[in-house]
Amino acid sequence: MSSPLLHPSLSLMKLLVNSNSAFLNPSKNPLINYLLRISIYNHFCAGTNEDEVKRTVRDMKQLGFTGVILGYGREIVVKQDDSNTKTDQSESRRVAYENAVEEWKQGNLRTLKMIGSGDYLSMKFTGAGPAAVEALSRGDPVPPDSIKEAMREICSEIASQGSRLWIDAEQQVFQSTIDKWTLDLMREFNRNGSVVVFNTIQAYLKSSAETVNEHLLLAQQEGWTLGIKLVRGAYIAHDIRDRIHDTKEETDKNYNCIVEKLLTRQFLFPVDNTPDSKFPDVRLFLASHNAESVQKGHLLHRHRILSGDPTIPLQYGQLHGMADEVSCELVAESKRMNASNAKEKEAAPKAFKALCWGTTEECLHFLLRRAVENKGAVERTKHMADALREEAWRRLLRG
Ligand SMILES: Cc1cc2nc3c(=O)[nH]c(=O)nc-3n(C[C@H](O)[C@H](O)[C@H](O)COP(=O)(O)OP(=O)(O)OC[C@H]3O[C@@H](n4cnc5c(N)ncnc54)[C@H](O)[C@@H]3O)c2cc1C
Repeated sequence: MSSPLLHPSLSLMKLLVNSNSAFLNPSKNPLINYLLRISIYNHFCAGTNEDEVKRTVRDMKQLGFTGVILGYGREIVVKQDDSNTKTDQSESRRVAYENAVEEWKQGNLRTLKMIGSGDYLSMKFTGAGPAAVEALSRGDPVPPDSIKEAMREICSEIASQGSRLWIDAEQQVFQSTIDKWTLDLMREFNRNGSVVVFNTIQAYLKSSAETVNEHLLLAQQEGWTLGIKLVRGAYIAHDIRDRIHDTKEETDKNYNCIVEKLLTRQFLFPVDNTPDSKFPDVRLFLASHNAESVQKGHLLHRHRILSGDPTIPLQYGQLHGMADEVSCELVAESKRMNASNAKEKEAAPKAFKALCWGTTEECLHFLLRRAVENKGAVERTKHMADALREEAWRRLLRG
């Protein structure tokens, strides 16, 4: 990431992602596959098959992580036969769309078999292909039947194995409809103390505090558990800028404010005559690489548990291969607190790593996004590089 090779490597990655040439396809060219694996794939991805992924998941848990969040890297591409007549074309389109949904469902069910109780399956609705993208673009209040059925089947499997589901947040044009579809899943599966589905809230959106408040009210009125995965938001470069906070500081403030309100069991905006007992059952997952937000959240949560104040269950997650200093600090703190008294044990942070799996070819889009996102990693992780250098010297000198 720091060498002069960065820019040419990024251009090469873009070429590989967009090319149809067999020579540049990592599944067909072993040299390209090998170079991608040693340079970037092994750093960010969990493995290409069940055995490799299960080994990575086991290693993460042995390191002290509470669990993992696993997603399948494959992005569905629909192929159609152009030579058909008009009616045949619409029929072949319907079949192609349904095949894409079926592939997506099978990919997710296969991924689910690689994780265990307490782990998360992560998925994007747009992963179901054009049927989902078209329904989301139209703002359909319910998904097409094939997607609805697939989601029911996946959620039932998740519930029966004691795992959980993360629905990723995407671009603004889709997001309000994604919220609606996910709320329906929470209504159905987050009942009677069981929590299966988590929705993602993007704190960079000016509307995010209101959205959280609306969801809190719905959960309170209808009696189900609200699962929130809180992120800052990843689509700033492509989305409508006006709807996003004007500065990074405002996004940070909003993110930290939502965390504080939820951990202290308060609505984001005043709600008439709502005593604390009426605050709904909520689970919060902080998906962030920002050390300050993670620390603030942990200190407040810990303080409330140790002083006997009411709060909500809290978990943390970072992407595999990124912000290891944030993740490992949580793991170290968790080990320290778990070795202490019962109250400290209860407040020990629960850290997760988010992993992507698939062949090198299937993960190419995911890898390109990681490479672009880490262009600024040299600056951001300078303190981490300094700490590693210091530790290396300490060990050498001690040796
Ligand atoms: C485990 C995990 C899961 C994720 N899942 C999703 C997901 O489902 N959907 C999604 O959209 N993102 C997702 N993300 C990405 C996330 O939204 C952020 O892009 C990324 O984590 C960087 O934000 P940060 O909280 O780590 O902190 P930082 O690195 O401190 O914050 C960077 C973020 O601040 C915001 N920002 C930067 N500049 C400005 C500005 N000028 N004005 C306003 N805001 C600004 C942007 O959101 C930017 O990404 C996920 C991240 C993680 C770690």
